[in-house]
Amino acid sequence: MSDVSSPEPLFKRLTLVGVGLIGSSVARIAKHRGDLASEIVVSARTQKTLDRVMELGIADRVELDPGRAVQGADGVMLCAPVGAFADLAAAIAPHLAPGAILTDVGSTKVSVIRDVGPLVPDSVHFVPAHPIAGTEYSGPDSGFITLFENRWTLLTPPPGTDTAAVAKIEELWRRCGSMVETMEPAHHDRVLAIVSHLPHLIAFTICGTADDLEDESREEVLKFAASGFRDFTRIAASDPVMWRDIFLNNRDALLEMLARFMEDAQAMARAVRWGDGTYIEDKVKRSRAIRQSLIELKQA
Ligand code: NAP
Repeated sequence: MSDVSSPEPLFKRLTLVGVGLIGSSVARIAKHRGDLASEIVVSARTQKTLDRVMELGIADRVELDPGRAVQGADGVMLCAPVGAFADLAAAIAPHLAPGAILTDVGSTKVSVIRDVGPLVPDSVHFVPAHPIAGTEYSGPDSGFITLFENRWTLLTPPPGTDTAAVAKIEELWRRCGSMVETMEPAHHDRVLAIVSHLPHLIAFTICGTADDLEDESREEVLKFAASGFRDFTRIAASDPVMWRDIFLNNRDALLEMLARFMEDAQAMARAVRWGDGTYIEDKVKRSRAIRQSLIELKQA
């Protein structure tokens, strides 16, 4: 995590709406560093999660009602699944303090701007963001303070967003250990469709295919999983609601990338059928080069 660049907390009160892997990691970092916010308030869907948050000691205060949770906050971060954002934005909008910054961590950005943007009062700055870091675990116990270290956070502020508000959210993510870049929201969604959403779709699908096999073969899939299948099962273990919401809220970009993938998979099938070893070898070589680049960029 980067050094503390200023002893001053960025926010007086930061409210996290949703406190799973991402929200609880931010809360842990805030408690650990002390310079994200003087006070951390947390809201979630269930009291059980809020009780756990207090047990873990990662918030100063919890509120089940999101409207009450954001009252008096100068920073608000939506950390729930993106499908819940429209209702959450409607619930908190009348309670947001003038001058507050509203941000989020949602994995899709066009839909978030569509669902949240129109509900944000004129006096509030809206800075959509997406930390590209994660694991297959969810819930308040799954967070950890190094989650965002050396990972990218993409900011997608709509045109005309207050530059000081954008700079503040950028600094928040830098203090979380992240590298930050700004991107146009539709471009963000296309990039994420290929680097994250399509790989998850393939993982969920291949696990389903294996599960549909007759009993005998299915047992062998589990027994010999270490030969490649295992890596797909890790990705496929992610939260169902979160992924349902991501797929439905990045539909166009995901379907476009899936169509391109299916064309390429067909080309590979053709090479296999016709014994085109050169084609297959070339594809594997290109894939290895991508892996090597990731290692060099320290993103592996
Ligand atoms: P998570 O671990 O599944 O936690 C979700 C949190 O949101 C829980 O605290 C849950 O409360 C709360 N929540 C769910 N529905 C809600 C509602 N209707 N109103 C209020 N709170 C609600 O999720 P996560 O993995 O941290 O993901 C959170 C967000 O980050 C998502 O938008 C996701 O797209 C994005 N993101 C995820 C990853 C990743 O790899 N996990 C990476 C980058 C960005 P309860 O516990 O009470 O149900």
